[in-house]
Amino acid sequence: MTNTAMFSLEGKTAIVTGANTGIGQAIAVGLASAGAKVACVGRSDMTETFEKIGAPARCLEVRADLATLEPIDHIVEAVTEWSGSIDILVNNAGIIRRADALDFTEEDWDAVMDVNLKSVFFLSQAVVRTMVPRGQGKIINIASLLSFQGGIRIPSYTASKSGVAGLTKLLACEWAPKGINVNAVAPGYIETNNTLALRNDPDRNKAILERIPAGNWGQAPDIAGAVTFLASGAANYVHGITLPVDGGWLAR
Ligand code: NAP
Repeated sequence: MTNTAMFSLEGKTAIVTGANTGIGQAIAVGLASAGAKVACVGRSDMTETFEKIGAPARCLEVRADLATLEPIDHIVEAVTEWSGSIDILVNNAGIIRRADALDFTEEDWDAVMDVNLKSVFFLSQAVVRTMVPRGQGKIINIASLLSFQGGIRIPSYTASKSGVAGLTKLLACEWAPKGINVNAVAPGYIETNNTLALRNDPDRNKAILERIPAGNWGQAPDIAGAVTFLASGAANYVHGITLPVDGGWLAR
């Protein structure tokens, strides 16, 4: 394999959840630029992502609210009907709820766990059932620094993202023998809707920036390269890792 061929996704079909904005949109654009057809799954319009990809024939929009498991069968059927098979699944969709642990509600606990962890498991299960007969496939979960650290005021988010790192390892152990790679990418502090509240708080913003060795917040496309690597043949022997892309935060 040449260096370029090693990272090529030509002929592959990827699903990216939450692809209308932020990190998911950047991942969809990155996978498409490496040659993949991309099914953009989420509850919002994907027009902006399709425009950034610039090749509508290689994009599919599947509307789905991943707060429940109800749309999962439809997602798999729609993408399979469109492209014949699914090679890559990026579980990116996620939410965060902020409150002190003493005040945290059951609603905020369940809402975050359902999208960030429960749907990740059951969508992966449904997609991998189609991959097993072909003996190949890549699952990439979007984890977080809160897969490694505790944080404050985000108990369900930390529980869900720590769960994502654990689940990534378990699924890698079960599915590696079947030819499926399961890995995760842990973004550091990235400028998206998810982190608007932090960036608007001058004290938190200053404290965060002072701790990042690279000296700046990350941008969504910074995550796309790591995901493209894990989706490609270059990562065929990589199983069960959670790869930080964090400007050096965890090294500090
Ligand atoms: P974002 O801009 O808020 O994007 C979140 C995405 O998830 C949106 O596309 C959103 O769709 C989708 N989503 C949320 N709930 C959904 C549901 N019920 N059904 C379907 N889609 C749903 O945030 P982001 O920063 O790009 O986050 C992407 C991922 O990266 C998340 O898993 C997040 O936890 C993780 N992450 C982000 C950072 C960071 O610093 N930004 C750091 C670590 C990890 P709508 O637009 O329709 O709501």
